[in-house]
Amino acid sequence: MTVEDRIAIVTGGASGIGAGIADVLSTAGATVVLADVDEAEAERVADDLPGEAIGVEADVTEPAETAALAETVVDEYGRIDVLCANAGIFPSATLEELSVEDWDRVFDVNAKGVFLSVRACLPHMREQDYGRIVITSSITGPLVGYPGWTHYAATKAGVLGFMRTAALEVAASDITINAVLPGNIATGGLDDLGEEYLEKMRNSIPKGKLGTPEDVGHAVAYLASEDASYVTGTSIVVDGGQTLP
Ligand code: NAD
Repeated sequence: MTVEDRIAIVTGGASGIGAGIADVLSTAGATVVLADVDEAEAERVADDLPGEAIGVEADVTEPAETAALAETVVDEYGRIDVLCANAGIFPSATLEELSVEDWDRVFDVNAKGVFLSVRACLPHMREQDYGRIVITSSITGPLVGYPGWTHYAATKAGVLGFMRTAALEVAASDITINAVLPGNIATGGLDDLGEEYLEKMRNSIPKGKLGTPEDVGHAVAYLASEDASYVTGTSIVVDGGQTLP
């Protein structure tokens, strides 16, 4: 898999799946920029990676911050080869509990954040005629429903529509846009849902265990590689077989 010497941005890179993606890309020889609202943690994760890596503060819901992120990376490294638009939140609320503010906040981070991150990086990818964009969606987008996450599922389905259409817009260049669909992955965010939820999930997964952030990272690294140049507008499910039965 060729990501060696490529310059990669991972949003939400300070934790969980983002940190796992960063680790796999870094191990494969990419330079990784971890962009997160939690700058201190992004820097800490960057320091632990095997290759060149930095942590940068960026809120993906803010147009000025995503634009500044792209400029910082180009100033520092000269190009942006890979964007992993991964930052996301998944607060739970049933339809009766869900406020308009909750709905808007989840859309801001999970959907607008993807748009703003892509919009900031795309001009640089166009200029160099090379780019690999990988969006972290979820099996809740196209494949399953979890009561309590209507707003979340809507964002994760929405970014898949965005991904397919964006992939078409750039298809004539060497830029690809794809997504990964993680199932239940052991991250801090999931731990917050409690042991009972986790046990139920483990029992519903044919492989009998939750996935790891690195399991997702390996799928992302393929889509982010030079080898995946003919793969665009599609997605890889990483769920231990959960959506098969
Ligand atoms: P996590 O909470 O461990 O990590 C999310 C990271 O995003 C954190 O470091 C957080 O600070 C950062 N972040 C939040 N809002 C941000 C913002 N506005 N700008 C920049 N950074 C921001 O969560 P995770 O489980 O690693 O989830 C990562 C992605 O994977 C999310 O998009 C999530 O929806 C998706 N996902 C997770 C699972 C799972 O089982 N964990 C399953 C499917 C999809």
